[in-house]
Amino acid sequence: MIRFDNVLKRFGDNVVLDHLDFAIDRGERVTLIGPSGSGKTTILRLLMTLETLNDGVIWVGGQPFSHEQRRGKLVPASEKYLRVARRRIGMVFQHFNLFPNMTVMENLTEAPVHVLGRDKATARDRARELLDLVGLADKENAHPTQLSGGQQQRVAIARALAMDPEILLLDEVTSALDPELVVGVLNVLRDIASNTDITMLIVTHEMQFARDVSDRVMMFDKGRVLEDGPPEQIFTDPAHERTRSFLKAVV
Ligand code: ATP
Repeated sequence: MIRFDNVLKRFGDNVVLDHLDFAIDRGERVTLIGPSGSGKTTILRLLMTLETLNDGVIWVGGQPFSHEQRRGKLVPASEKYLRVARRRIGMVFQHFNLFPNMTVMENLTEAPVHVLGRDKATARDRARELLDLVGLADKENAHPTQLSGGQQQRVAIARALAMDPEILLLDEVTSALDPELVVGVLNVLRDIASNTDITMLIVTHEMQFARDVSDRVMMFDKGRVLEDGPPEQIFTDPAHERTRSFLKAVV
């Protein structure tokens, strides 16, 4: 579903992703862990087309994503190509990023109507289903400022799903929340993981959550994959001392 093929990303002289190769299958739930600065967020930002790579190719669903085919050759993707490609991917950020001047319903229907061209009634029906899924069926007319951080984050998750993405990227979605609000957000994500076949790429410091929802954990260090395996193995019997000391520090 996602393939990084020799991906190099640097900011100036700082090599952030060092000729990275990995593949993620359709429907897999993969958690990226690793010390600060190891490149996890950069991977998600490349998939959101918020960054461009310096070398290599990213593939999504068997098609080039960072590049496009022109006369049988791969060339860096144009803005027009990326606009369409990125619709396949939904992202939820640490700081919800809801539209503050719109109601919850408007937040959920804006892109399906204006980007996907859905009719308003269909978009509203789907938005209500999703608000039900995230436990906020009674909040469709509220504005983001009238909601708690946890509720805003659940709206943000529903908004990402409203675009029917094939892949959902979750970047530290609970780290801006008060501890008592974290559980509600994680429960919603657990429900989504068990009731859909959406491919999920998760960056989190919530190791228990990573353990519960992931099929696979990838440990990054200095822009490379240090180890990659099922959560039971990575969390209980890591192959590398670096992983062991990282886990000791965060758990
Ligand atoms: P954290 O756990 O702290 O979020 P991370 O593993 O997600 O870390 P990234 O955010 O991907 O790491 O950052 C990797 C490196 O890239 C860091 O050294 C960071 O300083 C650098 N970096 C990220 N974005 C930029 C930018 N826009 N300009 C310059 N350097 C950047």
